[in-house]
Amino acid sequence: MPIIDVTNLHKVYGSTVAVDDVSFTVEEGEIFGILGPNGAGKTTTVECIGGLRRPDGGSVRVLGLDPVRDRAEVRKVLGAQLQESELPEKITVAEALDLYASFYPSPANPAELLGDLGLAGKADTRFEKLSGGQKQRLSIALALVGNPRIAVLDELTTGLDPQARRDTWQLIEQVRARGVTIVLVTHFMDEAERLCDRLALIDGGRVAAIDSPAGLIARVATEQTLRFRPSSPLEESVLTALPDVTAVSREGAHYVVTGTGNLPYAVITTLAAHDVVAAELRMDQASLEDAFVAMTGRTFEPAAG
Ligand code: ADP
Repeated sequence: MPIIDVTNLHKVYGSTVAVDDVSFTVEEGEIFGILGPNGAGKTTTVECIGGLRRPDGGSVRVLGLDPVRDRAEVRKVLGAQLQESELPEKITVAEALDLYASFYPSPANPAELLGDLGLAGKADTRFEKLSGGQKQRLSIALALVGNPRIAVLDELTTGLDPQARRDTWQLIEQVRARGVTIVLVTHFMDEAERLCDRLALIDGGRVAAIDSPAGLIARVATEQTLRFRPSSPLEESVLTALPDVTAVSREGAHYVVTGTGNLPYAVITTLAAHDVVAAELRMDQASLEDAFVAMTGRTFEPAAG
């Protein structure tokens, strides 16, 4: 049984259709991404999963429970990252964690969690004095303090510098290694590609596709391109004869080889058989962004900030 089951979810705010028709399942232990541009309906979807909003249509089940009707039960198993405005400015880091820990029957050790999140020295610091990255890490700590089976993390690296983003990604992988199922909302392609086992591409309140990052890319990109400078002269026909190769062209001293299947292996082994080394080798492949554009017919608007 999937740990989360969303079927034909529909949610409106007045005349705005925030979520039109969204269905997906999340398996226990995976990092499931919800990826889409701003306004796609990602936050509304996870708010319905957390029981913070009541669907106008369709159904949501978390471990078979209805998040609205069985809110108390769902809160015991699902930890959600808070928006930072939800904490009072004067509360200290330790106080916030102790408060949240008190809501749960078997919470994590707050001091250990602070250590894991690189906030060990900040226990007595007031919320208002934390940097953006520290606030972000505290909100992750608060999502995890109840030892949840599911953690919902929404735009977790927005506003973080590149090093803090990488640290946060590592932390998420550690959390998953402890067996926690993670639902990750993001509009960052690189984050989704790096972290997610599977992801739902959402656009305009609808699911455009669900697959692994590699699977999504493979759907739109059948061709790859290798570019290199051969260490010694080589007949093009040696490469065009390979079944995986569809085209070979020259750009000055460089060869550009396009093809399918296991193109790099086929080309490199053939070069080696002719005692040729591929210098300045570069490989181009489609990205998750190409997949999004191909599947929605739209460019993925980079978010401000
Ligand atoms: P995302 O998380 O993908 O950015 P949201 O779920 O936040 O998308 O928003 C989806 C749509 O619903 C957007 O058009 C947004 O402006 C609108 N919306 C979100 N929250 C509210 C709200 N509380 N009241 C009215 N409209 C909202």
